[in-house]
Amino acid sequence: MNTSNVDLLHVNAVRKAFPKPDGGELLVLDNVNLQLNEGQIVGLLGRSGSGKSTLLRLIAGLSQPTSGELHYLGKPITCPGPGIAMVFQSFALFPWLTVFENVALGLEAQGMPKADIRKRSLAAIDLIGLDGFESAYPRELSGGMRQRVGFARALVVHPDILLMDEPFSALDVLTAETLRTDFLDLWSEGQMPIKGVILVTHNIEEAVLMCDRILVFGSNPGRILSEIGVTLTQPRNRLDPNFRELVERIYVEMTAKRMDTTVNNRTEHFPGVGIGSVLPRVSSNSLSGMIEAVAAAPFNGAADLPKMGSDLQMEIDELFPVAETLQMMRFAEVEGGDIKLTEAGMAFATAAPNERKQIFSRHLLNYVPLAMHVRRVLDERASHKARKSRFIDELEDFMNEDAAEQSLRAIISLGRYAEVFAYDDETATFSLDNPS
Ligand code: ADP
Ligand code: MG
Repeated sequence: MNTSNVDLLHVNAVRKAFPKPDGGELLVLDNVNLQLNEGQIVGLLGRSGSGKSTLLRLIAGLSQPTSGELHYLGKPITCPGPGIAMVFQSFALFPWLTVFENVALGLEAQGMPKADIRKRSLAAIDLIGLDGFESAYPRELSGGMRQRVGFARALVVHPDILLMDEPFSALDVLTAETLRTDFLDLWSEGQMPIKGVILVTHNIEEAVLMCDRILVFGSNPGRILSEIGVTLTQPRNRLDPNFRELVERIYVEMTAKRMDTTVNNRTEHFPGVGIGSVLPRVSSNSLSGMIEAVAAAPFNGAADLPKMGSDLQMEIDELFPVAETLQMMRFAEVEGGDIKLTEAGMAFATAAPNERKQIFSRHLLNYVPLAMHVRRVLDERASHKARKSRFIDELEDFMNEDAAEQSLRAIISLGRYAEVFAYDDETATFSLDNPS
């Protein structure tokens, strides 16, 4: 595609905070800067919860920044307009409308003559490969076809900027790949009635496959950690060594910046976490599964995360939380895109089931502050019981309601496995009922 210097979109020092129930604020985006030029696909790559959708909503004019500016073609973005359209992860179609009606809807809002609406809608339906499905209802379509309707509905308005929020992540692997390559073909042939694309994804390979530039997003608060240009020519081949090298580099970047904290200019590989850190939800099965996989041949205790990801068919949204929890519990060190088991991690791998529980509970109570806290409260009380709401209230001083709920669910699951406390969901109460 031709790349000219038209500044389609300019995001300048954008900050977004949401009010918290207690009167404080939750900072979700901090100092985000980005620019989209004509002819480019820009990727926003980050873990879930890093604020990617929040940024897209700001760009779409669906919400306003707390501070900073967003400009489309040099003008401030104040409300949704036809120049910027969005494709969502959940196809968000109207079930009572046909494919044609779902697509045409976007134009009806613009008050266009009926004949033009019909022509433009049929053209969009054609372009995106939905020929023959015009009168079908969403329930009759596969996920892939539904998402094609999502694309057609966004394209029908001929937006300058197409925003895509994880558009392939709800599809199965093969369907997703077909939609990606179809999209790239149309884009490279200049058939899309659009000038630039912002693609939100948590899939590193998808970003390298599709984007001209990748902005790597960090969490808490969401911000851009780095920008990576992709100069490989389209169509790109996932097996090309240069492709692999770039994937590897991004893994390194994302693990280095996410999992380490810098203390006195020294990188701390076991970040000290307080009760205020949001815990990812991972199962004890995936933790022991990962330890076993890393301990076994061919890795023998140290593995390359991109390789593990592709061997175990795990995306970063599954892989990173597990690696991160292992690091927090000091079963592994994560650095530079590699995961290396600690002595305790190796010991766990070879231990018998009962020993495993002992090692696990020792590490849980020594290194995970929320587990320590719950256990201490239970130990101190004569009843050895405490309501979940009590801990939720405490966590909400540090995080929003969803994150507090998620962290407690995570600690319940780890605590049960380790048998360091019990939890009864009916009464929403922690206790020491089972533990020895
Ligand atoms: P991503 O798309 O990267 O997964 P989101 O932008 O959806 O991330 O969310 C980022 C963070 O902002 C999350 O912690 C989420 O709970 C919070 N958040 C998003 N929208 C709101 C809102 N309207 N009110 C309060 N918190 C919100
Ligand atoms: Mg999102």
